[in-house]
Amino acid sequence: MNAELDLVAQVRSQFPGLDQDVHGKPLIYLDNAASSQMCVAAIEAVDHFARHDRSNVHRGAHELGQRATQAMEDARAVVQRFIGAAHEDEIVFTRGTTDSINLVAGSLGAMFSAGDEVVITEMEHHSNIVPWQLLAARAGIKVRVAAVDDRGVLDLDGLIGLIGPRTRLVSVAHVSNSLGTVNPVGEIIDAAHDRGVPVLLDGAQAIPHVLVDVASLDVDLYAFSGHKVFAPNGIGVLYGKRELLRTMPPYQGGGEMIDEVSFEGTTFAEPPARFEAGTPNVSGIVGLGAALSWLMSQDRAALAAHEHALVEAADAMLAAMPGIRRIGTAPGKQGACSFVMEGVPGADVGTLLDMQGIAVRTGHHCTQPLMRRFGIDGTVRASFSFYNTMDEVEALERGLHKVRRMVGGA
Ligand SMILES: *Cc1c(COP(=O)(O)O)cnc(C)c1O
Repeated sequence: MNAELDLVAQVRSQFPGLDQDVHGKPLIYLDNAASSQMCVAAIEAVDHFARHDRSNVHRGAHELGQRATQAMEDARAVVQRFIGAAHEDEIVFTRGTTDSINLVAGSLGAMFSAGDEVVITEMEHHSNIVPWQLLAARAGIKVRVAAVDDRGVLDLDGLIGLIGPRTRLVSVAHVSNSLGTVNPVGEIIDAAHDRGVPVLLDGAQAIPHVLVDVASLDVDLYAFSGHKVFAPNGIGVLYGKRELLRTMPPYQGGGEMIDEVSFEGTTFAEPPARFEAGTPNVSGIVGLGAALSWLMSQDRAALAAHEHALVEAADAMLAAMPGIRRIGTAPGKQGACSFVMEGVPGADVGTLLDMQGIAVRTGHHCTQPLMRRFGIDGTVRASFSFYNTMDEVEALERGLHKVRRMVGGA
């Protein structure tokens, strides 16, 4: 236990954003599924880049241009190691998960024809629904949706049954942002590959919580965001297998992504440059590299065990509390505890917790079809990171009792 306290104290010291009062109360930050706090390593790397190395990348003949280019390519190598990719050129920098999925829809999707199908699930974030609906409107593809049960567990057989001769892609969340459900991605990938279909995983919630190794998963495409993994906003990653990326056409045109341009025709750079048109978010890239390097220097297994204990404690606390309905009770869930308080609108719960310094998120969490599946408009979601503490879980419990007393009733 002492070792755990030491571990958490040490890790909390790396997150200056946690150390503040809100409404006169110490901040208890339980909105990590929306954005985690930034670690010192990332803050300092961004600051250092701005003070010393700021320049555009690639064509600079001068020292700062070379430093910026080096910093960007070093960060690419860090991302490669972090997710276990075989090659550096399999790492494409994007603006985030949403941008990564839109890249796939715009590029791989440009090779789909009317009647082709993309298989998703009922628990997807809007960013893994709407790009496919736009492609459906543009190119006449069909979106097939696999169901989830009352616990928030994916109907795996149902999903596999949807993979047919016209399926061009299976695109699913690795971990659900609303429910915390961890999907059986290994089985999904095996089943899709048996049928010759590639798989895109939305890893926005998995990357902060689960050790991801894209090579051993044998996943074809993997998307995640920096701001959920202790790094800056506006930066993210699309991993793609080298052979697959090389078949994919550009989806945006501009500088950096070309081989040679003429008015008769233009040839394109090899990946990843082909998908990185324009000046990249170098400062975000540098911050992402620093955050992931810092994470790799930590005892991630111990941090994950601590975090999982927090989620289990919070879940047990909510299960025992009268007038609370938990949404998402999948075994082994990660990160998020979603619930509704009977008789109290979620927004009110959120506001009354905020007055006590407790930050949670309320609403549909960009998963409206999933909310509809559970017959609700939204939930209150407490989402955890390894820098949270058991004391904070207890504070959430006291906070919810206080909310109940303030609104009256059961
Ligand atoms: C946050 C999130 C997204 C969108 O990520 P952005 O960083 O907003 O692009 C997509 N999917 C899941 C599961 C998420 O949690």
